[in-house]
Amino acid sequence: MNLVSPLEKVKGIGAKTGEQFALANLHTVGDLINFLPRAHEDFSHITAIADIAPGKATIKAKCEKIVTRPVRRGLRITTATLADDSGKLQAVWFNQPYRETQLKSGDEFYFSGEFEFNYNRYQLTNPSAEQVSDMPVQTDRVLPVYRSIKGLKTPLVRKILAELRPLITMLPETLPADIIKDEKLLSRSNALLAMHFPKTIEDIEKGRERLAFEELFELLLASQLNRQENARLEGWHIPFNQPVVKAFVKQLPFELTGAQRLAAWDILQDFEKQTPMNRLLQGDVGSGKTVVAGLAARQAAHEGFQTALMAPTEILASQHAETLQNLLSPFGVRVGLLTGSVKGAARQTLYRAIAEGEVEVVVGTHALIQEAVQFHKLGFVVIDEQHRFGVKQRQELLKKSHHMPHLLAMTATPIPRSLALTVYGELDISILNELPKGRKPIMTKTWSPNSRAQLYSLVDEEVTKGRQAYVICSLIDDNPDNEIKSVQAEYIKLQNSIFKHRRIGLLHGKLKSDEKERVMQQFTSGLLDILVSTTVVEVGVDVPNATVMLIEDADRFGLSQLHQLRGRVGRSVHQSYCYLITSTSAKPTQRLREVEKSNDGFYLAEVDLKLRGPGEIYGHAQHGALNLQIASLGDTKLIARAQRTARAFVESGDSLLKYKELASRVQHYQRLTTLN
Ligand code: ADP
Ligand code: MG
Repeated sequence: MNLVSPLEKVKGIGAKTGEQFALANLHTVGDLINFLPRAHEDFSHITAIADIAPGKATIKAKCEKIVTRPVRRGLRITTATLADDSGKLQAVWFNQPYRETQLKSGDEFYFSGEFEFNYNRYQLTNPSAEQVSDMPVQTDRVLPVYRSIKGLKTPLVRKILAELRPLITMLPETLPADIIKDEKLLSRSNALLAMHFPKTIEDIEKGRERLAFEELFELLLASQLNRQENARLEGWHIPFNQPVVKAFVKQLPFELTGAQRLAAWDILQDFEKQTPMNRLLQGDVGSGKTVVAGLAARQAAHEGFQTALMAPTEILASQHAETLQNLLSPFGVRVGLLTGSVKGAARQTLYRAIAEGEVEVVVGTHALIQEAVQFHKLGFVVIDEQHRFGVKQRQELLKKSHHMPHLLAMTATPIPRSLALTVYGELDISILNELPKGRKPIMTKTWSPNSRAQLYSLVDEEVTKGRQAYVICSLIDDNPDNEIKSVQAEYIKLQNSIFKHRRIGLLHGKLKSDEKERVMQQFTSGLLDILVSTTVVEVGVDVPNATVMLIEDADRFGLSQLHQLRGRVGRSVHQSYCYLITSTSAKPTQRLREVEKSNDGFYLAEVDLKLRGPGEIYGHAQHGALNLQIASLGDTKLIARAQRTARAFVESGDSLLKYKELASRVQHYQRLTTLN
């Protein structure tokens, strides 16, 4: 029997039980050994019946009397009188008539269960019962509780793991011996024993520490190795030309912030290196990432390199194209826009221009990574809102250059430091933590739906002042068609009554792309006062004159999403407002109160991480890599330890190949996280 043996080989698992495990995606002995408990309950102390108090309890007793009676269809109650030297109590089981046969022998048993007040008396409810022996499985110990996947019951998992216990005891170590020693960790075998068969509650913490450390170490080692591999790749050398950069900065209608300057400097320095840049530009909404990318693109173009900028939506792509056009055309840099709506001959012409290098900056959506697009000399790749792109898509784009192009991923989703370290360990990070001068903090307020009339008059006042407003409708459920219905209904309602005298536009994902384009264009150029929209405006859209963001059913949105939406306003010197309307008049949720309280995306991301956990925010869909089983991203201390250890391991030159199991798992993570 070994870790890859099918579970059916284990004593006690027949075909039917095997199927149950398979449903929970547990196929091999190794799968089950690594299936860790979600919690533990302490039943390790035996209480004399005379001393028993309400709560979890284990007693050692004999069964004196036991009867089962049907109460109604589908419910049979078994009651027993249990006795030890100190006294007697009653136990009750629901639909477990077999207890009668089990307990009638008159032998001594352990009973572990909840002693509680029910049906007018204190009794032990549904206790597990096991004949007294040296190795109790379901009673008289710190009991592990397992996630019940597809009806898989905890007692069954405990029973099979008890069978596997000798094997767990013999499991080989997976981490280098030095690391175990220096970090004072349990051996792998002891850690798993501590999780499945803890002697004390303290054991569990030690076990968890070891396993979480290992998980983080693997993840961080993978990023370190990615970084090392990246360093071996040959990149384009793009020399820094001070007059060119100065001229670009000089023609801007504003002064760059200190943070923008630093980020630009980081990038220009990376351009000069022999290894390709792998950089994440993190900046809160409105911090001005686009112009930083524009500056770098200007430098690249001057040296004869093309830049490709990918954006997650067409709206955003065309907006970026326009922004870059404005920034770069004074220097004779040509900007092309390639999206799904560029068709036929126009598309062919654009392809040719890109292939021949006549267009130096190409902005587009996913269309950019289609096979037909060939670049002349792609030196710089910018990915806006990079969390919207998968690893595969990034690879596609990077394949289009003969050398590895420099890569800049921009994101407005602030990532807590602990998370950035684990997910983006191989990336260098620049942070725009400073908003452009003169911006007033957005005023955010939660409104009950009953006060709509008052709220609308506030919106109207802003429009009278010449400002513009967004009205965002949420997903009523997961069906996008219903989302469209709700946004259309809202549009009609506002247009026909409250805002009859205003110019209103409607925007949602199902509109044809030229229609979307047209509406967005109208809003940008001030031909519309109010834009009623779904969350398609969530990312990146930049209309500085808009000062009101009104969000319907705000409680249905995630915290980061609300912050993103709010970031659509507050982009000029005018005071901006964000109004969160709750779906019922119940008290606003903690999420809404946090958004109300703070404008700081990094703070909100930390809160979000605490409230929801990383799985949901940076979930599987976005970061396949971040599927942590046991480690918590809130545990910054352990992350720092694992980070230090991973770095030391790489520097020591110790060969990963010596540690077979570790190597294979690290490789798995490497495949998932690498950008190259
Ligand atoms: P984001 O980081 O959210 O992508 P953008 O790049 O869209 O932000 O910039 C937001 C707005 O701020 C744009 O209108 C841009 O022209 C403006 N902007 C950028 N940098 C500055 C600056 N240093 N001073 C004033 N306005 C700026
Ligand atoms: Mg942006």
